[in-house]
Amino acid sequence: MTKLAEDIIKAIRDVAAVDEKNPIGLHEPQFSGNEWEYVKDCLDTGWVSTVGQYVTRFEDMISDFTGAKYAIATVNGTAALHICLLLADIRPGDEVLIPTLTFIATANAIAYCGAIPHFVDSDEKTLGISPEKLSEYLKAITVTNKEGCFNRVTGRRIKAVVPMHTFGHAVDLDALLEVCNQFKIVMVEDAAESLGTMYKGKHTGNWGMLSAVSFNGNKVVTTGGGGIILTNHEPLAKLAKHITTTSKIPHKWEISHDYIGYNYRMPNLNAALGCAQIEQLSTFIESKRNLAGAYQSAFHEIEGVDFFEEPEFSRSNYWLNVLMIKEGRALRDQILERTNEVGVMTRPVWQLMHRLTMFAESPRMDLSTAEKLESSIINIPSSVFLRRGNE
Ligand SMILES: *Cc1c(COP(=O)(O)O)cnc(C)c1O
Repeated sequence: MTKLAEDIIKAIRDVAAVDEKNPIGLHEPQFSGNEWEYVKDCLDTGWVSTVGQYVTRFEDMISDFTGAKYAIATVNGTAALHICLLLADIRPGDEVLIPTLTFIATANAIAYCGAIPHFVDSDEKTLGISPEKLSEYLKAITVTNKEGCFNRVTGRRIKAVVPMHTFGHAVDLDALLEVCNQFKIVMVEDAAESLGTMYKGKHTGNWGMLSAVSFNGNKVVTTGGGGIILTNHEPLAKLAKHITTTSKIPHKWEISHDYIGYNYRMPNLNAALGCAQIEQLSTFIESKRNLAGAYQSAFHEIEGVDFFEEPEFSRSNYWLNVLMIKEGRALRDQILERTNEVGVMTRPVWQLMHRLTMFAESPRMDLSTAEKLESSIINIPSSVFLRRGNE
């Protein structure tokens, strides 16, 4: 086996409490606060479902933490993203720009609206959408008039862009907003991975017209399954709440609805878990940043591999730590093989969206940076209290 694989295993084991007897996932949930108490309270009182005080409390906590004026809790992050897109008026036949380097949920939510994902290349400094490359590309292939931005090749409207803050590192939001303004495109943030990540001192999720966060079991904090919609626009917040709760018209006893609605409300049981998790969020982020710092020094000395560091404008949550294998795919695969064999869990990045059969017909720009990143990225164990001596 290659020396690099052995060096990497040693560096990870020096930093993180992982070994054969303690094989550990990339990101395992941490329940060290009031989780039992709050969940038990739901069972004791019978408030387990879509009505109950923890849901509102959870929304208020997220709103306080992120600085977003409104927060609407949902059953998962994909559902949150779906509603964000519907409220951004994404309709059948619209094109929506997304990074090809993302989790499938970003592309699926667009498909749920009957719209078409249009794939954008990445920036090596952020792992997210490259605003410069996008701007050049739109200049070349679109016409913008007072109705909006149109793809000259397909004739379809390009209505929105959905940047994704990859592994908790913020994309260059100011630069991207400039592109949005120039081309009359709406921004919706996929902030699923970036709870706790600040861009220029302000929490991510505040640049998009609407944004979606996920609380899946492997995210920084979890509600079991869950998501939340963030927005600073009151009418959108009201509509989001309305259509995620089956669009029921409030009334003492009548049951009637005024839109196609969704049963997307987060249950109280999940929100109870979430409240306990958010109480610990700041501590979790500190701990994750310490782990990243320790990894950074450990990998500093090792030839052939780079530890990915936060962009200068991002104070990242370091959701999943990233190694870049300089030599590329074949060596990357050997390292994945060997690390997993000895109980150090590592993973490659997601299959790029433009390679998936469902999106074979989707428009795309040159995606060479994303392809290069794909062949070099490895995620390494990143759980909250994983650092040695930090139980
Ligand atoms: C986790 C995640 C989501 C949402 O996932 P859910 O499992 O539905 O909560 C969306 N986009 C990205 C990039 C994600 O990582």
